[in-house]
Amino acid sequence: MEKKELLYEGKAKKVFTTEDPDVLIVSYKDDATAFDGQKKGTIVGKGAINNRMTNHVFRLLEKEGVPTHLVEELNDRETAVKKVEIVPLEVIIRNFSAGSFAKKMGMEEGILLKCPTLEFSYKNDDLHDPFINSYYALALDLATQEEIDVISKYAFKVNEVMRDYFAGLGIELIDFKIEFGRFHGEIILADEVSPDTCRLWDKETHEKLDKDRFRRDLGNVEDAYQEVFKRLGIQ
Ligand code: ADP
Ligand code: UDP
Repeated sequence: MEKKELLYEGKAKKVFTTEDPDVLIVSYKDDATAFDGQKKGTIVGKGAINNRMTNHVFRLLEKEGVPTHLVEELNDRETAVKKVEIVPLEVIIRNFSAGSFAKKMGMEEGILLKCPTLEFSYKNDDLHDPFINSYYALALDLATQEEIDVISKYAFKVNEVMRDYFAGLGIELIDFKIEFGRFHGEIILADEVSPDTCRLWDKETHEKLDKDRFRRDLGNVEDAYQEVFKRLGIQ
């Protein structure tokens, strides 16, 4: 499978067309951004880790009945994926308080929530991805009720599968963001699942093994990504 034209360059990935109109190639970069792109940097080796971790987790999710965009891992950094129409919602699941939730709710980080919770942001850079609810999503025609129901069902399933899987690696899944797309009328999981998009804490020490090390200048950023990758056991 060959890359044809650059379709889109985002903050973390480049997306290329291929000879097959249903298939794209995503190429993961080492570039890192935070705070709406205001903070920029490089995390050496991140592209390969995020690519391989996403594919590993997506294979697991497929087995558990969550359809994904994965077609084929081409090399360390590049993967062929089904070309979807992205539903412009960032779907966030939280098991523990952290980040914007902890701030908004006046809580410390790391408090176990009574049950997992789901929230949506409208994926719109100009508006800085504002928090919305499902009624906004319907009113703005971002998705249908049926799509929102399927997305919510899959998102909680993704959480169950990933929470158990990471627990087995000594990692607490604090929260994460996923994106879905439409492929020939079906909702499937797209984009990525990586330390860029998940909060992952060591279960024993509560050490942060994710992008918060970059966001908050905690140091050892590369080491944290490498540690997660090592625990996946896919070297
Ligand atoms: P951003 O756009 O936020 O800077 P990235 O650098 O990760 O993010 O760019 C990847 C883009 O590709 C995102 O906008 C994402 O929604 C989109 N995308 C992910 N998977 C697919 C797919 N299977 N088909 C089409 N677009 C996708
Ligand atoms: N997240 C993401 N992309 C975003 C916003 C959030 O991947 O544009 C992830 C983030 O890494 C965390 C979860 O979603 O795992 C919840 O993030 P939160 O709302 O707490 O936002 P933040 O504190 O990162 O601003």
